[in-house]
Amino acid sequence: VTHLTNYHLAKFLEKHNDKNKLDDVLLKVENISKCESLHAFYNILWKYETKECFYCGKRLSDKRIATHVDHFIPWSYIQSDNMWNLVLSCQSCNTKKSNKLAKSVYLEKMFVRNDNLKLTAVHNDFNYYSERKLEALYEYAGMNGYVENWSP
Ligand SMILES: [Zn+2]
Repeated sequence: VTHLTNYHLAKFLEKHNDKNKLDDVLLKVENISKCESLHAFYNILWKYETKECFYCGKRLSDKRIATHVDHFIPWSYIQSDNMWNLVLSCQSCNTKKSNKLAKSVYLEKMFVRNDNLKLTAVHNDFNYYSERKLEALYEYAGMNGYVENWSP
């Protein structure tokens, strides 16, 4: 909680500081850690998931650059990478969705997806998962101003 509070304080202060000196340092750090940490998740999802974009259903390329790992609840809200919150998506959907919340039909789709994925070898990644938790995070993110009802 302390780290999260400090992070949001830093983010707030960043907005009010001289842009030339510290230009979105936090965002840069975020993006570096995102790229590094998602590779392992990509390999797991590629192994167990249908090779289709979670949002538009488009057939995914096995080229890493064209297939993205998307945080269903935006990373900027949840601030961590959890198997139960990650899906494969095409580059277009991932880019357009960005920090938005997908329509509630996709929340239902997440419940089903997670029920299936937790039956695989990655079941330990679901020790702290429940539908209720995912649903609550989805609702809280909406209440905190995240743009809702995104669909491709
Ligand atoms: Zn897509």
